[in-house]
Amino acid sequence: MLKNTSSKIMQKFTTDGHRLTAQRRIILEIITAHAHEHMTINDIYKYALENNDNISLITVYRIVNFLTKNNILRRVQIDSNHYCYELIEHSNLMSYPHFICQKCGKVFDLGDEDTIKKLSACEQKIAATYHFKIKYSEILYYGLCKNCLDTEE
Ligand SMILES: [Zn+2]
Ligand SMILES: [Zn+2]
Repeated sequence: MLKNTSSKIMQKFTTDGHRLTAQRRIILEIITAHAHEHMTINDIYKYALENNDNISLITVYRIVNFLTKNNILRRVQIDSNHYCYELIEHSNLMSYPHFICQKCGKVFDLGDEDTIKKLSACEQKIAATYHFKIKYSEILYYGLCKNCLDTEE
């Protein structure tokens, strides 16, 4: 299944007219193999080194930015100057909500069907009420996760 995702992305990649260099391929493979993780650029770099790939941090940084611009990766802001990245698996969603724990730093996906439905209804309402065309949105909640709440008591 992972192989499938990875080859689908690579196909989309070339039909969009992007060159699939060896290094871009390495990063795409890492990202699809760790699709459900929220990875920092350093995490992606570490995975690349584990495969003994000859790649520099700055190259990883450039490729990740490129993939984010092309809607293959989603960037999630952890705090004022830290980001993590994840594969965009449901491209029909305008935004995918996340919760970020400010104590342990964990990033949680809030992608249950009901939440998504309500959020997209909310977006439609805003667009209709204010006559806007929403092109992009990011929904991030910050606070304490259940684990951290429990250990605080
Ligand atoms: Zn926590
Ligand atoms: Zn996520």
